[in-house]
Amino acid sequence: MPGTNLTREEARTRAALLHVDAYDIELDLSSAREGGTFRSTTVVRFTAATPGADSFIDLVAPTVAEIVLNGVSLPLANFSDSRIALPSLEAQNELRVVADCAYTNTGEGLHRFVDPVDGETYLYTQFEVPDARRVFASFEQPDLKAPFRFTVTAPKGWVVVSNSPTPTPVGEGDTRVWHFEPTPRISSYITALVAGPYVGVFDAYEKGDQKVPLGVYCRPSLREFLDAEAIFEVTKQGFDYFQEKFDFAYPFAKYDQLFVPEFNAGAMENAGAVTLRDQYVFRSKVTDAAYEARAATILHELAHMWFGDLVTMEWWNDLWLNESFATFAETVCQAEAAGSRWPHSWTTFANQMKTWAYRQDQLPSTHPIMAEINDLEDVQVNFDGITYAKGASVLKQLVAYVGQDAFFKGVQAYFKAHAWGNTRLTDLLGALEEASGRDLKTWSKAWLETAGINVLRPEITLNSDGQIESFAVIQEAPALPAGAKGEAVLRPHRIAIGAYELKDGKLIRVDRIELDVDGPRTEVPQLVGAHRPAVLLLNDDDLSYAKVRLDEDSLAVVTEHLGGFTDSLPRALCWASAWDMTRDGELAARDYLALALSGLARETDIGVVQSVQRQVQLALNAYVDPSWREQGTARWAEATEQQLHAAAPGSDHQLTWARALASVARTDRQLDLLEGLLNGSRTLDGLAVDTELRWTLLSRLVATGRADEKAIDAELARDNTAAGQEHAASCRAARPTAAAKAEAWASVVESDKLTNYVQDAVIGGFQQADQRELLAPYSAEYFAAIKGIWETRSHEISQQIITGLYPSLLVEQGTLDATDAWLDASSPAPALRRMVVEARAGIERALKAQAVDHAAGARALGH
Ligand SMILES: [Zn+2]
Repeated sequence: MPGTNLTREEARTRAALLHVDAYDIELDLSSAREGGTFRSTTVVRFTAATPGADSFIDLVAPTVAEIVLNGVSLPLANFSDSRIALPSLEAQNELRVVADCAYTNTGEGLHRFVDPVDGETYLYTQFEVPDARRVFASFEQPDLKAPFRFTVTAPKGWVVVSNSPTPTPVGEGDTRVWHFEPTPRISSYITALVAGPYVGVFDAYEKGDQKVPLGVYCRPSLREFLDAEAIFEVTKQGFDYFQEKFDFAYPFAKYDQLFVPEFNAGAMENAGAVTLRDQYVFRSKVTDAAYEARAATILHELAHMWFGDLVTMEWWNDLWLNESFATFAETVCQAEAAGSRWPHSWTTFANQMKTWAYRQDQLPSTHPIMAEINDLEDVQVNFDGITYAKGASVLKQLVAYVGQDAFFKGVQAYFKAHAWGNTRLTDLLGALEEASGRDLKTWSKAWLETAGINVLRPEITLNSDGQIESFAVIQEAPALPAGAKGEAVLRPHRIAIGAYELKDGKLIRVDRIELDVDGPRTEVPQLVGAHRPAVLLLNDDDLSYAKVRLDEDSLAVVTEHLGGFTDSLPRALCWASAWDMTRDGELAARDYLALALSGLARETDIGVVQSVQRQVQLALNAYVDPSWREQGTARWAEATEQQLHAAAPGSDHQLTWARALASVARTDRQLDLLEGLLNGSRTLDGLAVDTELRWTLLSRLVATGRADEKAIDAELARDNTAAGQEHAASCRAARPTAAAKAEAWASVVESDKLTNYVQDAVIGGFQQADQRELLAPYSAEYFAAIKGIWETRSHEISQQIITGLYPSLLVEQGTLDATDAWLDASSPAPALRRMVVEARAGIERALKAQAVDHAAGARALGH
């Protein structure tokens, strides 16, 4: 087991032995403009409960220059396999480690980026899960908290931001030194450093006597696009809401939000110094869904300041709770905070989080929410739809189960009892039991220790007058995929049932019943004797986590009138249900396309429109009968064209249909339109053909052979930014020639020179649904290469390649066979195996869906 893969057992032993008093960390970043390595000096003071015992500290570095423990130099050979052995500890210890650490270009550790616009260097750290050790020697586990004091040497004129407020730098010559105050006791994974000629905008959150300085930063080349006011507005709404609901003042000295380049995740909750991907600084028009997503991210990270940073999980097995809480908190805050622009956030949650969770929970790799996390590799592949999305869905269900007031009362007690400490799930559940008076042991066992999704179906009988004679909710156990962990159980569900009537083409809710569903069959006496409404919707308001099926009569009404629901949430639930049925082979992909073609024209929620567009594209790429694919895709392409022309000028719908057309255009007329929009010979009233849309148009023209490398170069000359270089790389990989594919493949698989973002762009351009023949030879190459990649590249880079280059467009038995042969022959590490098994499941599901779609086609033809 490599030393980088800390096990839970090792962490437990170390936490029992050590208490960390303080870190003093000096980083010399005067080499930042040249790259390579930087000098890192760590002094850490700690006690040992058993004097004489041995332990170790973590460090990932090319070289170590000095190791001094309690005044005695240790042999440099004590540094081996990313650890420094610490023999015979005393009761009180002082360790000094001097190392040369490496700048990275993978988004892990201390990432170094050069902006092509100004040639300047920008740095930031990203430490979750275990990468603080790439920057300083640290006991890399969340329950060894400590105050961290950073001292940073960096070029004169730079901005340096960390967890503590930025001091005035001192010194002379070409460099300056920033002496930061120590942080409160926090975990190493939420320490942070951002350095470079970033620009900042400042404000403050003020409430009574409280004043929290706020900062928002980005690179100068993005400054003109930085709408700091909008970011501050959401941030302040979040401060108001969370401080009230948590009954606990914001725990840190200031709150900076830094938009940084080439960031792998959406954002990171570093204490008082949140980093966010700088695509959130919008340089072109985006739809309101993008603003909503950014606001959600802002609120998510802010919620972590309490849940995660102030009170922290003891070990990564509770990562799900950390992420689920923040995801639930972001959504409830958007739904309820005064002045929120997105009060329909639960629609977005149903549309995106739930869909993600349902998908992940049906993969062979699915697992109980409380996953066993035996080591760091386990946690790195667990940033998945179970951890974030199912966890948050189940938390929403828990809130419905105990009641929201009791939920927040429990959370308040939890923060007070555990501030600056570490906890386990039972600490939170105990607080919620006390606040609500409900026993959560059975609930927790059923929901957190088992995998899969229950199905809820209505069972209705009517009397001769059309009144409901009986109504029951039937619950089915999850159909767990072969090999999945956990047992299939029935669960207690708190659900609502909505009754809708059809009036003038509109579906209006006329009744709502809330009840506990438990066991295989739950009678609903409240509905008996009532007139049967047009639609009966189980799990209305989306309180629980379950697959919901409609009775036949309701399904018929919904199929015809999906757009008629006046509320966006029941529409989103029905869209999700239809998609789920398509994925399960209960609805033919061509029927889903038909539903989308009729329903999308009336769908007002832009986030839902975008999701359905993506799902249609996936259905066409993977789920329709291949012999019907071209016909279905042509129909979809025509629909996107019509919707584009019909959309209101300047609307979000217009933009999203322009993008949809640009991803599927195939006829001369359609491609002529893209070309005309790009060269300015065609215009559509209100449609701004701005930087990002230009690349979207060009990408399709390149992939279809209508534009060549010269056009790519010309576009890059117009937009020679980091984002422009990524788009250009993607376009080059999208060219429909064997040579272009070979070049793209070699740049990712045979070389490790690409940055995380450029690599991702190349992979995205390489995979083109219309280029299956060009891609076919790479299936064998993929399986020959991935084990070596896993063993030699960083986690982030490997994951991009292994999931991104899997032959997922080659939906055929041969791909399954090749995957199985590789799995049999290569005994991959569990995390690598999991990625490949998940990708394989996509092919298996697609083949089944294709068979269903083929049968539907045959029926339609009367065979
Ligand atoms: Zn989070």
